[in-house]
Amino acid sequence: MKQSILQIVLDTPLDSSFDYRWQASDESEAAPQIGQLVQLSFGRREVVGMIVGTSAESEVPAEKLKNVQAVRHQLPPLSAQWLALCRFAADYYQRPLGEVALPGLPKNLRALTTVALDRGLKKLQQSSAAHDATPIDVAQLNPAQQQAADAIASATGFAPTLLYGVTGSGKTEVYLQAAAQILARSENGADNPSQILILVPEINLTPQLEGNIRARFPGVMVATLHSGLAEGERMRHWLAAHLGQARIILGTRLAVLASLPHLKLIVIDEEHDPSYKQQEGLRYSARDLAVWRAHQLGIPIVLGSATPSLETWHHTQSGRYRKLELRERAVKDAVLPLVRRIDMERDKPSEGLTSTLVSALKQRLERGEQSLLFLNRRGYAPVIACDACGWVSNCTRCTSFMVLHKPEHRLRCHHCSLELRIPKSCPTCGNVDLQPLGRGTQRLEEGLQAMFPEARVLRIDADSTRRKGSAQAAFDSVHRGEVDILIGTQMVAKGHDFKNLTLVGILNPDTALFSHDYRASERLFAQLMQVAGRAGRAAQKEGGSASEVLIQTRYPQHPLYAAVIAHDYDRFATSLLEERAQACLPPYIYQALLRAEAKELEIAIEFLQQAAHCIEHDGITMHDPIPMTMTRVANVDRAQLLIECPSRPGLQAFLTDWMAQLRQIKTRAKWSLEVDPVDI
Ligand code: ADP
Ligand code: ZN
Ligand code: ZN
Repeated sequence: MKQSILQIVLDTPLDSSFDYRWQASDESEAAPQIGQLVQLSFGRREVVGMIVGTSAESEVPAEKLKNVQAVRHQLPPLSAQWLALCRFAADYYQRPLGEVALPGLPKNLRALTTVALDRGLKKLQQSSAAHDATPIDVAQLNPAQQQAADAIASATGFAPTLLYGVTGSGKTEVYLQAAAQILARSENGADNPSQILILVPEINLTPQLEGNIRARFPGVMVATLHSGLAEGERMRHWLAAHLGQARIILGTRLAVLASLPHLKLIVIDEEHDPSYKQQEGLRYSARDLAVWRAHQLGIPIVLGSATPSLETWHHTQSGRYRKLELRERAVKDAVLPLVRRIDMERDKPSEGLTSTLVSALKQRLERGEQSLLFLNRRGYAPVIACDACGWVSNCTRCTSFMVLHKPEHRLRCHHCSLELRIPKSCPTCGNVDLQPLGRGTQRLEEGLQAMFPEARVLRIDADSTRRKGSAQAAFDSVHRGEVDILIGTQMVAKGHDFKNLTLVGILNPDTALFSHDYRASERLFAQLMQVAGRAGRAAQKEGGSASEVLIQTRYPQHPLYAAVIAHDYDRFATSLLEERAQACLPPYIYQALLRAEAKELEIAIEFLQQAAHCIEHDGITMHDPIPMTMTRVANVDRAQLLIECPSRPGLQAFLTDWMAQLRQIKTRAKWSLEVDPVDI
């Protein structure tokens, strides 16, 4: 009987592979290969693992070796390159390989039955003919766009490029034309078929772009990968990518780990967006992994943004990345909006709106144009309070407030999801007159509707779009012109191309100016530019309003607003980078964060203290363990320990040794390590 030893990784925190024996079930069964999935029993569980090595012998005594139960022969193996990507991510983020490789696969691939896999494969065979679509007219690129598209498509080898283009400059068109050139080249037979990976920050941006891409590329199979897909769909799209049938793969951050055997170009739209960072489990940066992947394959990668991350900006300054610029809006006669500050100390708001903003809204309503009010805080009010005794609606389980959700008649904690009915009277003194403090999107909606009873007001936030498909429906109704005033959180700030929108009002951006997080101003700037960029995307109509952005602030003199008004990211980014260099912050230093959590804060802190002293650390700055700003979430206390190093390899080498020591520490704290943390 044919047999061999397989090294297998599993989705477990144990940092190793496991030896199993394979024996052919009959003469015809092919020998298993690296990258194939196998079913086996591990402890008392049955699980699916992946083969990462094969050999003739094992150090495990023969009587202790277990047999694998089945090899998933119907699925072609994951490639060595894909495994190398996972291995890099595992090493870099200090996680076991199995915890990177397996969770990256569709859930159904790891199921104990192959029904879903077989069905997915069969469906793909039937649908190998690509979708039907009516081809559409393609915009004639302007010279700057053309130059950029040509430069991207003609690049050979690893060529990271920042496509730095103001909002509405037509970056999407550049990506798609570059993609078209690359696909056409392989169509002409010289090469293997090509695959193009396009990453976008948000699920709710994929349908718009997906429709656009399908229309642009009739006859080309397009796959989408994001967390909003049903399992069956996810399996089919993943398989289409893995088998090389899908030529364009559009997805959110998780798509960076897709199997793409013929990858020839990677695009990261809005590369600065924080959602490219996974914030739980394997805390990876999809942007950084994408750059590594492009480097590994020797292919071009495009990072697009109007407000690039300082890391990327830094790379263009040092010449590591090439910078291509689009300075003007693409649509003829569309110009960047005029941005103004409204001093809230002089023009006192009522219902959260200054009189200047109210008149601007009125004008839009009269002219049948759309307005957007941006308030990045959902709910009715962030807290309710009792004037008589000073009680406030603290969450009993977190260091935070319970948020008033008036339409739902609930108090909700946004951190632990605790929900309570709104108390009829103060729990401490019985006062029945409890007051909402502050303003969220629901309260703004109520006030606006009272002020403009005729106006069609629509709120888009995580609460109003809970049902599947409802976000898309809401955005569609804005596009169809069924909405006069749109209220939204950051969900509405990104990417959307609203043609009839001429006014953006920004409410309450000031809190981020004084955050303890050194990245807050970089983020605020990007967010303001993004949301401002929703205005004036079409040419000004005859008798219509010039597009305008009004920022309501108590700090009109703040330099950040001056930079937003000047649409001057260059200067702002350059000055932020100088500050970072002086303060020795990223990208001039490399960081990792050890987090610990426990029922009691002392346990977490004690673990971190032990961690800080368990190893020599020359060349590494080890800060003191501290409680996290929001210390308690869902009855768990959290603390952190920041470490820094001026060299990336130095940090990596240290972390590997350190992790080995940390695993030896006996503690009741749950802990995890994050490399390149973004929220400190
Ligand atoms: P960005 O991503 O840079 O903010 P988009 O790609 O969304 O910009 O493009 C903004 C608008 O400009 C879209 O409506 C798009 O169809 C249009 N557009 C892009 N390129 C051209 C062009 N060359 N001529 C005319 N319109 C264009
Ligand atoms: Zn009270
Ligand atoms: Zn809570």
